[in-house]
Amino acid sequence: MVSLIGLTRKKILRKVDLHIHTYFSDGSFSPEEVIEIAKNKGFSALAITDHDSVSGIPRAKIAGKKLGVEVIPAVELTAEEKDTEIHILGYFIDYKDENFRKFLKSLRQARIERTFKMVSKLRKLGLDIDMEDVLETAGPGAIGRLHLAFCLIKKGYVNGIYDAFAKYLGEGKAAYVRKKRLTPGETLQIIKNLGGVSVLAHPHTIKNKKMVEDIIKTGIEGIEVYHSDHSLKTSRYFRKLAEKYGLIISGGSDCHGLRKGKILLGSVSVPYHVVEELRSKAKIND
Ligand code: AMP
Ligand code: FE
Ligand code: FE
Ligand code: ZN
Repeated sequence: MVSLIGLTRKKILRKVDLHIHTYFSDGSFSPEEVIEIAKNKGFSALAITDHDSVSGIPRAKIAGKKLGVEVIPAVELTAEEKDTEIHILGYFIDYKDENFRKFLKSLRQARIERTFKMVSKLRKLGLDIDMEDVLETAGPGAIGRLHLAFCLIKKGYVNGIYDAFAKYLGEGKAAYVRKKRLTPGETLQIIKNLGGVSVLAHPHTIKNKKMVEDIIKTGIEGIEVYHSDHSLKTSRYFRKLAEKYGLIISGGSDCHGLRKGKILLGSVSVPYHVVEELRSKAKIND
């Protein structure tokens, strides 16, 4: 009996981060670096959630096996509804699926074209930003606004990431260009077809609260209650919403390595039973 209690407590104490980016999207760390940092900070499991890419998963899994950190395969997809970006995480997806990989490749190609358009908007505004420079910054990653922000900072046009989004890159700002559009319903279907479980990422970014409830009613299975940008009050609000609709209560740091100033890995954690809940709803659970 004593040992059973001990085991349960051990399991409860296992820390998990379910939202992490590598340099295969807009994070600054390799999969191996992410695993090493997670291990040093006492995490027992984490999910690699790159935007439009699953390329970091195999390497993270190998590194995770070596260091004893469980890696949950995942992806972060962008949907759009009424000009609002909605980020949806898919966990335990069949990341080896060939059609899905081709689809992600087309999304990454569309990102390159979109970045070209954003660069030319910036140039028309008189800013000396080079596509070559942005491509180099992105390296192997799914190119995006965080890479552009980095170039704007480097050239001294803005004071930091948040300034870059406020002045040029945020939704509706002068250099903003929309991504390839999927509806929330289409996105949930993609994740479902891959045997995965869908979770609404950083719901605080959706200003229209009715829209959040509409997405829930479309069939999302979980919601990020805990996120590095959520205040206690925000987390409490989304926890209540999760309880109302019976959603999985998830969370993660949304760490982008050093791209958002500081390393967010370690700032947010959820208990291991969240992984078990996600796994129990997934078709493939490895
Ligand atoms: P993209 O995928 O190119 O649309 O860029 C999305 C990335 O930009 C994500 O990593 C977001 O966390 C980041 N992002 C979006 N809006 C902001 C903002 N207002 N301030 C800082 N980062 C942001
Ligand atoms: Fe990102
Ligand atoms: Fe996101
Ligand atoms: Zn993210």
